[in-house]
Amino acid sequence: MSTPPHALIAGGGIGGLAASLCLARAGWRVTLLERRRLTEDIGAGLQISPNASAILRELGVLPRLSASALAPKAIHVRRGRDGVTLAQLPIEHAERRWGAPYLLAHRGDLHRALIEAVAGEPAIKIHAECALVGFTADDNGVTAAVAHGAERVSYGADCLIGADGVRSFVRERLAEMQGRAADLPDRARHVAWRALVKSNKVALELRQPESTIWLGPGAHLVHYPLRGGRLTNVVALIDDPVRIDWTADIWAQSGDPHAIAARFAGWDQRIRGLIGAAEDWRLWPLVERDVAWGSGRVALIGDAAHPILPFLGQGAAQAIEDAAMLAKELKACAEIAPALVSFAAARAPRVARVQRESQEQARIYHASGAFAALRDLAILTLGRRIIARYDWLYDLSAAPA
Ligand SMILES: Cc1cc2nc3c(=O)[nH]c(=O)nc-3n(C[C@H](O)[C@H](O)[C@H](O)COP(=O)(O)OP(=O)(O)OC[C@H]3O[C@@H](n4cnc5c(N)ncnc54)[C@H](O)[C@@H]3O)c2cc1C
Repeated sequence: MSTPPHALIAGGGIGGLAASLCLARAGWRVTLLERRRLTEDIGAGLQISPNASAILRELGVLPRLSASALAPKAIHVRRGRDGVTLAQLPIEHAERRWGAPYLLAHRGDLHRALIEAVAGEPAIKIHAECALVGFTADDNGVTAAVAHGAERVSYGADCLIGADGVRSFVRERLAEMQGRAADLPDRARHVAWRALVKSNKVALELRQPESTIWLGPGAHLVHYPLRGGRLTNVVALIDDPVRIDWTADIWAQSGDPHAIAARFAGWDQRIRGLIGAAEDWRLWPLVERDVAWGSGRVALIGDAAHPILPFLGQGAAQAIEDAAMLAKELKACAEIAPALVSFAAARAPRVARVQRESQEQARIYHASGAFAALRDLAILTLGRRIIARYDWLYDLSAAPA
């Protein structure tokens, strides 16, 4: 019996864990390296759209999420200045329309559900608190240098998958190996302010089982219930050019509650109340980079390959789609490097469209003046029919195979 091929995956976030599962199911052996501890409950709310939940269901992850995730009844679009309802888009029938549920979950809960599923796969070995710090790659395979505290360990594998997030070491090192400068941007055009608020501090009207989006000039605010409704996830996305500090932990920068309150001062009093109820704000500059898929026996997935503005809530979903396509191409093709080329070719058009439409959504959501008035009129006129705008994205059976 021949030994199964072996993949080394750098990064045990949503993309890396999903890729481990998909590859193990495709008959691969996987070594997964994660520089953090696996038990950290970090992040806040994630929207798990049907294109991602369909894959999670196939991987057996969905039942592990059912106790903590919530299926909202609607997406409620409101005008920021006075709270007027522009549309209430029904998504409780997501399963019927798109073939899989639409869920709201804490990132930590999805992360945990994936880790539990990985723990049941003997073909996957996870090494936590192990950072990839170097690698070489040629036609025969890859060799990786890994730091575990002061210890240095070397691993050999048939390919390396960089699932190491927006500040990808794999991407940076590949650029260096190819004599290119790393293309880390130093500025972001938008900033997300995120907070988790205890729901008993939130007005009853804002505690509905729906995802509510308030639109205003240069900003919008999204809130939805999490963890059985005990928490309310609040995210304000603001046009605000900022410098990105890559030395800081991008997920742990705190924000001044007075600054966010001042930014939303002219908005509906219910929004001001919600902002006032949040104690701990986290700032998240929204990184934009060109798409890069890797080369030879090294592939990039998720945020490492293509950070996506969160205006369509697709960062995690596209990482999960990458994972499924990667395993499909590696299973279908006997040669690794050509399989990785096919993977990139298969994913590129869809990812480009998601990036493009996320940018367009930003322009629409943050409109001001006459354009905003037209937008509101169009939403009011179209009403529930707007939901059809998302069919291409949410229905995986309609996406290119
Ligand atoms: C801490 C954190 C919190 C987040 N919170 C939210 C949130 O609340 N809401 C939201 O919508 N999105 C959140 N995201 C982003 C969202 O999870 C991602 O956009 C999306 O899931 C894409 O996932 P990814 O696997 O490509 O990248 P990520 O989820 O960023 O995962 C990358 C992983 O790689 C690890 N890593 C990095 N470098 C190395 C290295 N050299 N060696 C080994 N491991 C390495 C990181 O520790 C991380 O676990 C968060 C991401 C992180 C890392």
